[in-house]
Amino acid sequence: MRYFKHGTLLIIGVLLIFTWTFPQFFRCLFVAQDNFNEIKPMIFVEKGISKNQKDTLIKNIVLAKKRIIGFWGKQEGIAKIIFCKNAETYKKYCQSSEGAGCSIGTPLGSWIILNTDGLNVDVIAHEMCHDELMTRLGWWKTKKHIPTWFDEGLALMLDQRFVSSQDSSQRYIDYRAELNYLTSQPIPLQELTTQKAFFGQNQLFTKVAYFSSAVAISQKISTKGKKEIFEIIEKTKKEDKFEF
Ligand SMILES: [Zn+2]
Repeated sequence: MRYFKHGTLLIIGVLLIFTWTFPQFFRCLFVAQDNFNEIKPMIFVEKGISKNQKDTLIKNIVLAKKRIIGFWGKQEGIAKIIFCKNAETYKKYCQSSEGAGCSIGTPLGSWIILNTDGLNVDVIAHEMCHDELMTRLGWWKTKKHIPTWFDEGLALMLDQRFVSSQDSSQRYIDYRAELNYLTSQPIPLQELTTQKAFFGQNQLFTKVAYFSSAVAISQKISTKGKKEIFEIIEKTKKEDKFEF
């Protein structure tokens, strides 16, 4: 009986810590019990969306998956997609009203949340890229070793909203030009290692942070090829340290 009591307390304690650490986990896990329909396996949409929105979402998910496969070789990430038609619902799931999409990654599952601006292949491919990196490295190693600038810069290689060139040298040149247009002083990458540092200041800072990150990643790809990025990820996984 005593063991049972201690066991129960332990389970409650673990659940409480998990909920505190990942406040969105249970909301996302039980999305089907909220005001959502599963229109295809792993794709949940808020009730009442139009047929046009539904078709656009499905079409862009297919295109985004192709981009993921084009860059990564195959898609290992299996994040569920949650499309919110209302801004308040998006805010509830993302814990922020910023952006067109966000990723919720936990050790027990991941989700991509989209709002109506996220009915877009670039947004979906961007979020899928975050999920892909986390799936390949695992939640813990991603959190422990991967700096936010690497994660965001990599996602921008699949997100063509700012730079659309598919030629690696041109992409680097274009990201440099975007950055120079905003500032003559890029942010040093070592100041962009955490989510708080990257997103926690103001919109201009975050935009410069995105372009500074994209310049670093696109430069690496243009000089050493995409394989260099995979080697960095593989090394982080095997040797438990990140070296760029
Ligand atoms: Zn991102």
